[in-house]
Amino acid sequence: RVKDMGRNGFSFYDTSMNFDVERNLALNVRLHQAVLQNDIEVYYQPILDLNSRKIVAAEALVRWTDSELGFVSPADFIPMAEKNGLIHRLGDMVLLEACTQASAWQAISPIKIAINFSSVQFRYCEQLQARIIAVLVATGLPASQLDMEVTESLLIDQGRSLMKMLSYLKQLGIGLSIDDFGTGYSALSYLQRFSFTKLKIDRAFINKMTTSSSDESLVSAILAMAKSLKLKVVAEGIEDEQQASFLQQHNCEFGQGYLFSRPIPAAEFTQLLLDEQRRESVELKQPA
Ligand code: C2E
Ligand code: MG
Ligand code: MG
Ligand code: MG
Repeated sequence: RVKDMGRNGFSFYDTSMNFDVERNLALNVRLHQAVLQNDIEVYYQPILDLNSRKIVAAEALVRWTDSELGFVSPADFIPMAEKNGLIHRLGDMVLLEACTQASAWQAISPIKIAINFSSVQFRYCEQLQARIIAVLVATGLPASQLDMEVTESLLIDQGRSLMKMLSYLKQLGIGLSIDDFGTGYSALSYLQRFSFTKLKIDRAFINKMTTSSSDESLVSAILAMAKSLKLKVVAEGIEDEQQASFLQQHNCEFGQGYLFSRPIPAAEFTQLLLDEQRRESVELKQPA
């Protein structure tokens, strides 16, 4: 735009950069409002046992649709919330809502709830630990039904208090999953030092697995390594039956992806559990 040009027709900054800064500012303001007004929703995506194809867990995933900006992906607003500090409030909201929901689901099926935690939330790990315990007590959800998902970035700086907290939570029976495995930079030794219980293979590998032989061998190698470290494995982003059966054949125990279900609102998830329960009771009445 001519207006933006300087005296000698030379623009000091590029207008697209200006646009990014403005959009970023708008997003920040709207996100603050959304968190304060509780306009953030939690969706749930089923995690299945690949052999029985039954739901064993739900992963809680935040959803934010702004009245003006429309749908904003968590991949965009989570990093923003990490920078502006809102992640603590946001994380607390997701934790309480997801545990409340999971506690209610126990009456239908003994599923676990997998909740994503940002490394930033662990900067105040005493508070985070107290909050998790308070939420379990308040919702009545057994600690064994909670899986915490963290990414490899948590492993960069391993303070003593973090290690203490993680082993304490493990003693309570809470699971600890390493999310997006394969995309980070962690040394394998970290996997042992931290008391992980599950490993989630990033969907980038699952995606290319059945078309690229190098990704196929990577997935097999990850599965073998997980087995020797006694970690359970969840494959993320399963989109077709070919991928599901490949993983099943390679003894990958759990999977999640659009093949089974997209992330859905709590009420729809309840319906999935009820449908599954009804199918099971029919199978029991009419053995094959
Ligand atoms: P994630 O924890 O690795 O979650 C899995 C992401 O993969 C979700 O994206 C899910 O919708 C997507 N996905 C699942 N199956 C498929 C599939 O078959 N195909 C494709 N293409 N995608 C699939 P989503 O919901 O957009 O979340 C993105 C990321 O945002 C999450 O990755 C997680 O890192 C972060 N996130 C989401 N909710 C929270 C939260 O409550 N707290 C924190 N700290 N981070 C969150
Ligand atoms: Mg996750
Ligand atoms: Mg992931
Ligand atoms: Mg991710």
